[in-house]
Amino acid sequence: MRVLITGGAGFIGSHLCELFLERDHEVVVMDNLVTGNIENIEGLFGRPGFTFIKYDVTNYVHVAGPVEAILHLASLPSPVDYLRLPIKTLKVGALGTHTTLGLAVAKQARFLLASTSEVYGDPKVHPQREDYWGNVNPVGPRGVYDESKRFAEAMTMAYHRAHGLETRIARIFNTYGPRMRLDDGRVIPNFVKQALLGEPITVYDDGTRTRSFCFVSDLVEGMYRLLMSDEAEPVNLGNPNEMTMLQLAERVREATGSRSEVVLVQPRDERTKDDPQMRQPDIGKAQRLLGWTPQVPIEEGLRQTVEYFRARVH
Ligand code: UDP
Repeated sequence: MRVLITGGAGFIGSHLCELFLERDHEVVVMDNLVTGNIENIEGLFGRPGFTFIKYDVTNYVHVAGPVEAILHLASLPSPVDYLRLPIKTLKVGALGTHTTLGLAVAKQARFLLASTSEVYGDPKVHPQREDYWGNVNPVGPRGVYDESKRFAEAMTMAYHRAHGLETRIARIFNTYGPRMRLDDGRVIPNFVKQALLGEPITVYDDGTRTRSFCFVSDLVEGMYRLLMSDEAEPVNLGNPNEMTMLQLAERVREATGSRSEVVLVQPRDERTKDDPQMRQPDIGKAQRLLGWTPQVPIEEGLRQTVEYFRARVH
């Protein structure tokens, strides 16, 4: 297959590129490098079947030649980014999804939307199953991201129903690993960076909020299997191993061998407004349909992540 990966220079996108190339597919990356990083795909230039196009998918998209599948990952999924660039976030989720769906129709390509557990908002159901409709504040600071992805899901299903397009929706839960940006603002890069520098580890509010972290190699395997499946309805992809942010801070201290103290802080900006209290995927559907279960334990995933950051933190 020749696959187009929007946001292919990002953290998850770059790992997907490698997986597809390893499995003898051709890969075209489209990325405007707003949050993507060319270094993530540096090793792929010159590899047979790899092409990079620097482009903003919110504009009319054209790709020469055949395209059999499109994986639409272009997005600003980090809270610090979507708070800083709220309109870009809405545009890439809405307009970017529209243009790439249009391209999928033109090419008769299969389309996979990288959606998010944020569609569940601050969930009232735990763990979250795909048939839960969510609890999202449309006008809160996270609304720009959450609603753009909810709109993207609606648009994807509309193209499936109206055009008979083969579509897939991956609801991606918190994912971590090498190539996360140091300044991404998300909890694992923040904690690892702080631990490596011997600075206090900043746990927001009272530290009791929970997340469940999936290592990136597991996630991209799940995305690959979902693309190859015939399931048009959304599928959760994540690791159900849930922990509080205080527990995560301890794990990061262990993984880094750091003596950093763990401090509870109240961020001054809006980043913890509407912050989901808990999050854990129910992955029964992915297990049943895709035969997929995450394999990498948090200790091993953190070890590889710390190794990546150690070479970059000064
Ligand atoms: N968080 C934290 N300290 C940090 C960064 C984040 O305690 O330095 C918390 C944040 O408030 C949230 C959790 O960690 O409850 C996960 O945040 P992240 O931004 O990684 O992802 P998301 O909120 O999108 O799941």
